[in-house]
Amino acid sequence: MKFTLGIICSLFSFTLTAGKVPPAAAPSKPKLVVGIVVDQMRYDYIYRYWDKFGNDGFRRLVNEGFFCRNTNYNYVPTYTGPGHTSIYTGTTPAVHGIIANEWFDRKTGKYMYCAEDNAVNGVGTSSGEGKRSPVNNLTTTITDELRISSNMKSKVIGIALKDRSAIMPAGHVANAAYWYDGSIGSFISSTYYMTALPGWVQEFNKKELPKKYMSEPWNTLLPIDQYTESIQDDNKYESLAKGESKSVFPHDLPKLMAANGGLNMIRSTPFGNSLTKDFAIEVIKNENLGKSAATDFLAISFSSPDYIGHAWGPNSVEQEDDYLRLDKDLAELLKFIDTQLGKDNVLVFLTADHAAPEVPSYLMDLKVPAGYVDEGKLNADLKNYLKQMYGDTLVLSMSNQQVFLNHKVIEDKKLMLQQVQEDAAAFIQKMDGVSEVITATTMNNAAFVEGSRYLMQKGYNAKRSGDVLINYLPAWVDYQKTGTTHGSPYSYDTHVPLIFYGWNIKQGSSAEQVYITDVAATLAMMLNIQFPNGCTGKPIPFLVK
Ligand SMILES: [Zn+2]
Repeated sequence: MKFTLGIICSLFSFTLTAGKVPPAAAPSKPKLVVGIVVDQMRYDYIYRYWDKFGNDGFRRLVNEGFFCRNTNYNYVPTYTGPGHTSIYTGTTPAVHGIIANEWFDRKTGKYMYCAEDNAVNGVGTSSGEGKRSPVNNLTTTITDELRISSNMKSKVIGIALKDRSAIMPAGHVANAAYWYDGSIGSFISSTYYMTALPGWVQEFNKKELPKKYMSEPWNTLLPIDQYTESIQDDNKYESLAKGESKSVFPHDLPKLMAANGGLNMIRSTPFGNSLTKDFAIEVIKNENLGKSAATDFLAISFSSPDYIGHAWGPNSVEQEDDYLRLDKDLAELLKFIDTQLGKDNVLVFLTADHAAPEVPSYLMDLKVPAGYVDEGKLNADLKNYLKQMYGDTLVLSMSNQQVFLNHKVIEDKKLMLQQVQEDAAAFIQKMDGVSEVITATTMNNAAFVEGSRYLMQKGYNAKRSGDVLINYLPAWVDYQKTGTTHGSPYSYDTHVPLIFYGWNIKQGSSAEQVYITDVAATLAMMLNIQFPNGCTGKPIPFLVK
């Protein structure tokens, strides 16, 4: 017996010394991965603003990196919470459970915010803004897998103005997530991660950069007549800040601040991006990211373009100016990474959590089919209809284009749930602006393979979603007539940029269709680590050979 084992052992060592190394045994790896999400960025902004961009921001990413020009979200709703979660988990709300930013929770009868966690408290704040964690995400993230694969030696930190955009990317076992509390003008965290803010975060907050950024009017970076990619500054498709009579430059921030949320107002200006960039640089410096043997990960999300899109829309001078300034912020960040760690040691990717349509009222004036749905009225009409039919109020909530029926009353009255769902669906189907309506029973029993029904199914979570799911016609939204919103399965909401740059990335581009769920799968292959545990995406073949 001993003899046999000895032979096997010597054979084994012979094989190893002969240099037969498995192909994945000695890969080089990046010192740092920097994930950049731009909140509400359409892929066409790259081209639209190209001539105005400098050489060192978006253009540098495209000219030196790999641009997946046809990257799409593969579920609805295309919102911020689900978007960030899907990028980092490699799967859709059907699996990770973040079905919206906020949803009706059957168990409690209340609304659940996607990053809400009442078991934790704020750190660096006494406001409710700190009661946040990733517990509602049911799966691991690529950042979780990186930490676990390195026995927690890899550092993972998420940052953004929006809490959900810092928390969801950083995952469950992150070292930290930091987000902005506008009531005090500071970056904060929660007891989920730590008991006190690190000294360097406290020092950063003491600099009161939000106040400095807001101490001057927001004027255009270039002379305003050069903003030829946008419609005229003075138009009726833009929201007014409180205290403004026209939505035009310059926006007098020092004067407008008090009536518009104080230091929270920085969110709706390009300076929200600059503040995030300043903080990102401090994170890399003070946490020594990329300086140990393990690969670290910094997840950054730039939230301001979304606030600006919601207020002024994609065709506004405001959004163009925001992107020109974001371009400069990106350039500064990339330059800092270069000098700190070297481009070849850092893997950067940039994408978006969703895109956005033109302002629907603007499209209507151009005679393009578009419109507005009043979901509140739809809800009231449906309630009345079902009450007349069944003699009881059967609707608990309508939110995120989903109807939640009262299962208890339906059971007590010995009604068939499927029948009530179908009656509700048939009623809603007749309403203006509605494209299609699907019941939860159908979702549970059939598998759609393409089109908007497929995207609705990928966003449907059997435990958390409603009884009836509604899709509107293209360019129809439930929103105010100024600014824009998003959430649909149409390409104006799903088509986002995706650029990989730096470590091991060869320059190029592709128009082949890939999906947002492929990002985490691709990162896992590049880093030779496990896929996130709910991952349904595939590594992008031209990036991973
Ligand atoms: Zn938004």
